[in-house]
Amino acid sequence: MKPAACLLNVDNRISVGGVLIGDMIGASGRRHLWEERRGNVVDVVVIHHTSAAALKPARPFSRGLILKIFCDYGVSSHYLIGRRGGIDLLVPEGMKAWHAGGSIMPEPDNRQAVNEFSIGIELAATPASGFTASQYRSLSRLCADMERRHNKRFAYVGHDQIAGERAVALGLRKEKKADPGRLFDWSRFLGQLERDRLSTVG
Ligand SMILES: [Zn+2]
Repeated sequence: MKPAACLLNVDNRISVGGVLIGDMIGASGRRHLWEERRGNVVDVVVIHHTSAAALKPARPFSRGLILKIFCDYGVSSHYLIGRRGGIDLLVPEGMKAWHAGGSIMPEPDNRQAVNEFSIGIELAATPASGFTASQYRSLSRLCADMERRHNKRFAYVGHDQIAGERAVALGLRKEKKADPGRLFDWSRFLGQLERDRLSTVG
């Protein structure tokens, strides 16, 4: 399950409405939508959902349109998991992506600026769509694989847990985030991850 290339860079040849994603990134004066991390520690995974519903209601899960939104807003995430469970690597794990924004880890961790030490995973979903069985399967396999490669267990948080009311009250951000939301089944994900940890040993 090694994803091929990091998609949020100027070499991306995926075309959206006749414009290449790579050219959209180049037009912003960047080579890619990531930057160096300030520290070496990566010990958190942030789970998000995202869609293109606001751009094109008829195609909310279009990979190209979701990538275009990343380009339009100058944001990014390490992985995108489509409705059928396809995993795209968007940003190298060793680099900092811009997915969490103003954020603070839950008690007792309390570290801020979560982008610095986290990997962001986007699930293609709308607030009402819920998540597919294929997405849960790919998510847990991906996380088990990352834990094996990084040789550690990550802390798993939702964007809503680190960029919610507390982050707003602390002045870290203006609006609270609500993804992945209450339709994301944490016990299903964590149970599946527990099983995948065992099956990837050795
Ligand atoms: Zn999010």
